[in-house]
Amino acid sequence: MTSQPPLFQFDNTYARDLPGFYVDWQGAAVPDPKMVLFNDDLADALGLDAASLSGTDGAAIFAGVSRPEGASPLAQVYAGHQFGGFSPQLGDGRALLIGEIIDRQGQRQDIHLKGSGRTPFSRGGDGKAVIGPVLREYILGEAMHALGVPTTRALAAVTTGEMIPREGTKPGAVLARVASSHLRVGTFQFFAARSETDKVRQLADYAIARHDPDLSGENDRYLKFFRQVIERQAALVSKWMLIGFVHGVMNTDNTTISGETIDYGPCAFIDAYDPAAVFSSIDHGGRYAFGRQPTILQWNLARLAEALLPLFDAEDLDRAVALASTELDRYPELYKAAWIKGMGQKHGLESHQDDDVQLFEELLSTMTEQKADYTLVFRKLSEAVNGNDESVKTLFADPARVSTWLDRWMQRLATEARPLDEISASMNRINPIYIPRNHKVEEVLSAAERADYAPVKTLLAVLKNPFDERPGLEAFAEPAPTDFGPYQTFCGT
Ligand code: AMP
Ligand code: MG
Repeated sequence: MTSQPPLFQFDNTYARDLPGFYVDWQGAAVPDPKMVLFNDDLADALGLDAASLSGTDGAAIFAGVSRPEGASPLAQVYAGHQFGGFSPQLGDGRALLIGEIIDRQGQRQDIHLKGSGRTPFSRGGDGKAVIGPVLREYILGEAMHALGVPTTRALAAVTTGEMIPREGTKPGAVLARVASSHLRVGTFQFFAARSETDKVRQLADYAIARHDPDLSGENDRYLKFFRQVIERQAALVSKWMLIGFVHGVMNTDNTTISGETIDYGPCAFIDAYDPAAVFSSIDHGGRYAFGRQPTILQWNLARLAEALLPLFDAEDLDRAVALASTELDRYPELYKAAWIKGMGQKHGLESHQDDDVQLFEELLSTMTEQKADYTLVFRKLSEAVNGNDESVKTLFADPARVSTWLDRWMQRLATEARPLDEISASMNRINPIYIPRNHKVEEVLSAAERADYAPVKTLLAVLKNPFDERPGLEAFAEPAPTDFGPYQTFCGT
């Protein structure tokens, strides 16, 4: 008999290098693991054999029931500020890191399960996940990836054959996700809160080796590492703001070191442009409202700075604070520059002029006032470039409110070096026609709760090419019908 090659070429640095930062753990037994969705493209990018993993064997592995050769499943510990209050002890309460592999690009990736049962960090929770939130994370993560936003990704979704108590009962499920690491601001906070400076340093060195290897030998590597995290996160949140994404629960345990979007819970895309938009049922104060995300991120980065202070200067705390403040003070400008550049591209502009920001803000406030659909307005602007401004005007309750703006914008476009048809084509590569519309997401999740998975597969196929308008898919581009009402999302744990 010839022996089969292992399904994964695991190389588990977290398990190996960071004892004391996790507990070894196993997934819970479940009655009937079944594959619901398997991401062939991602499997291929990871160098995995889709044929061996997309069936029964894969279902048992991704449910957490069977342990593939070379895996070292573990639950990571972390802390975090949740809605502004510090929880010193969080951690993977329903998740497991099963191991790390190197993808085809040479990038190290975590293979992680969410919903695989209780761990020592479960607190009062049951350690489980249910089909709706699992598929929601799958859909939103894959949509964000296709939209060019750094994110964790979904490799597989399995059902477990259990019914889990959640407003009645719901089918149990597990999400297998892939991330360039699961290091969070909260991971640093856990050890900093316990004054375990050696562990904070060990973690920072691990993070540097993984995400910023160029800094490894440098004396001031911790400060430079902090700078890199700020830059990645500023770039990330600017992308959220440009695409109209509301994360919904920007706690410090949901803020990554890698700069990837993580933990899709009560998130949603805005319809009308509205800085005050809040979808999460538990975000009563609007702390994580759409327009507050850049500010909240800065607050989270300040919490990271606090955790890292002893690494910036162990002897002189005042100096450490001054160094950290200098870095943090750069954030507003970094964010703003990324947002202005991105907004310019959405408007078809390559050059920058002083009053551009005013032009952008005027359109945005008219959209808010007129409840115009954010995604469609930008998409239809490209038609206005070519002389047809009717389709964009009809998105405003009072089309006259946008007419003068359109004239000013066309005059501004005339100062650009590129021909108009090129500008219009470039806008269609930046402004999507298909986003995960809230009503569509709800529709496919309801079907999945009845074990009808055809609609979620169709939606995923649409969202895979968000910039490429195709005939027959008009319904996926439409905003929610008015009878859909105000949208509310739930943590869905
Ligand atoms: P999240 O809101 O998903 O970012 O999770 C916040 C914290 O709550 C993390 O420590 C999770 O592991 C934990 N948690 C969420 N849901 C559950 C659950 N059903 N069982 C145990 N722990 C959970
Ligand atoms: Mg989380």
